Amino acid sequence: MNNKPAICLTFDLEEFDLPLEFKQEISPEKQFEVTCSGMALLLPLLEKFNVSSTFFTTANFAQNNKELVKKLVQRHEIASHSFFHSAFETGDLKRSKDLLEEITGSKVTGFRMPRMHAVDHAELLKAGYSYDSSLHPTWIPGRYNHFSKPKTIFRERGLLIFPASVTPLFRSPLFWLSFKNFSSGKYCRWTQKCLSAYGYVNIYLHPWEFADLSAYKLPGYIGKNREVMIKKLETFLSHFNGKADFISIQTLLQSKHEL
Ligand SMILES: [Zn+2]
Repeated sequence: MNNKPAICLTFDLEEFDLPLEFKQEISPEKQFEVTCSGMALLLPLLEKFNVSSTFFTTANFAQNNKELVKKLVQRHEIASHSFFHSAFETGDLKRSKDLLEEITGSKVTGFRMPRMHAVDHAELLKAGYSYDSSLHPTWIPGRYNHFSKPKTIFRERGLLIFPASVTPLFRSPLFWLSFKNFSSGKYCRWTQKCLSAYGYVNIYLHPWEFADLSAYKLPGYIGKNREVMIKKLETFLSHFNGKADFISIQTLLQSKHEL
C-alpha cells in the first residue's frame, strides 16, 4: 500500500496569448512557437524525475501541434482547456473534448476554464466531463474572490471539483505566480503544509513560462527568465522526489475511487 502524498503538477497548454492582454501584437503562429519552445525545456525535466502530469490543453493548440500532443499522452493526461484561450461559447466544451479524444485516442475526463473563469457545471456534465479544475478557492484582487469555497476535492451533483491548492489557514495560493515569485524554500514549505493537511496538491503552471519571453514587455512578476524557472522547477522536483508521487489528476481521482 502506497501512502505517499500526491502532487498533481498540472500545466495549462495553450496558445501564448498573454501579450494581447498587455496590448502587444503576437501572431497565432508565434503564440504556438513560444509555447512549444517552453515545452522543449520542460518535458526532459518531467521525464528525468518520472513525473506524470495533467496538461489542460486548448483544442486550438492540439489541432496545430498534433504530433506533440500524441506524444504527450503516452506519459501524461490530456484534459481540456476549452477550444480557444481567448474566446468561449458553450459548444466549445464538447467540441474541445471530441477533438482532443480524436487526436490522442484517449478519453478526456477533465476540464479547466481559461483564466480560471467560472464554468456551468450542468453544461460540463452534459458534455461528458467527470471533473472540473477551474476553481481557485482564494482571493485574487481584480479577478475573483472564492474565499468561502472548499479547498479540497468535492462532488457537486455528478461532477467532481478539484480546486487549485491553497494553504490550509491563510489560503495562500500555490499557483504559477507564487511558484515564480516566492523563494523555492517558501514554496516548498507551503506545498508541504497542503500535503500534510490534504494528502495531495493541485498546482498549475504554463509551458510558456519556460520559454524566452524577453521579446515581450511583460510585468516583472510574469516575465522571469527561463533559466530561473527551470532551476526553480528542478529544485521543487528534487525536494519532493521520493517524498511524494507526481501523478495526473485522473490517476489521483481513480485511486480514491472517485472517478
Ligand atoms: Zn490558460
